[in-house]
Amino acid sequence: MSAELLAFRDAVSGCTRCRLAQGRTQVVFGAGNPSAELMFVGEAPGFHEDKQGVPFVGHAGKLLEKLLGGIGLTRGQVYICNVLKCRPPGNRDPLPDEIEACEGHLWKQIELIRPTVVATLGNFATKLLSGRPAGITRVHGQEQEVDLGGNSVLLYPLYHPAAALYTPRMLEVLESDFRRLPELLGRSLERASGSEPQAPVLEAPPELAVQLGLF
Ligand code: URA
Repeated sequence: MSAELLAFRDAVSGCTRCRLAQGRTQVVFGAGNPSAELMFVGEAPGFHEDKQGVPFVGHAGKLLEKLLGGIGLTRGQVYICNVLKCRPPGNRDPLPDEIEACEGHLWKQIELIRPTVVATLGNFATKLLSGRPAGITRVHGQEQEVDLGGNSVLLYPLYHPAAALYTPRMLEVLESDFRRLPELLGRSLERASGSEPQAPVLEAPPELAVQLGLF
């Protein structure tokens, strides 16, 4: 992890900006490649994440790993975090004042990691990072260019894996949206290098991951 990200993680580990500090086992900061091109932002830690201090380690996390595997990536090659860094009691939805208290941590993470594609998982991350009220059912699979943490990134809303676990139709849509990620990564890489757009890559061959500096 970059020294700055490590220092920031240490600072956040003692956060008391909201009531969730009282019930948590630990802050779940985020995990993965600190210079990832692709970042996932979920909702909030659940029971297992709170215990282990790592995001997406439960059933939803297993599905996320499987989806990543489907496009030739592992979780160590991307960066995964949440809107809230502490577990809400009983896994209830995040409250507006908790999001407000915590969002600065996410902005700073994005600023330090500088991803080129940010995939938001579910409504909370999508609404926060897009700055728009449109729900995930309407906007999933539609990338948009936004300014995050001082950088232009492609924001890509996806259904939350936890929701897709129990709804087969949603899982199909999530899988299909996921398959466009290599193309989006390729596109943002081209933009960053100023080269001509190339034909979209529909599946992630290992070469793409190599190009992206993921290995
Ligand atoms: N759901 C989330 O949104 N985040 C996690 O870390 C786990 C489940």
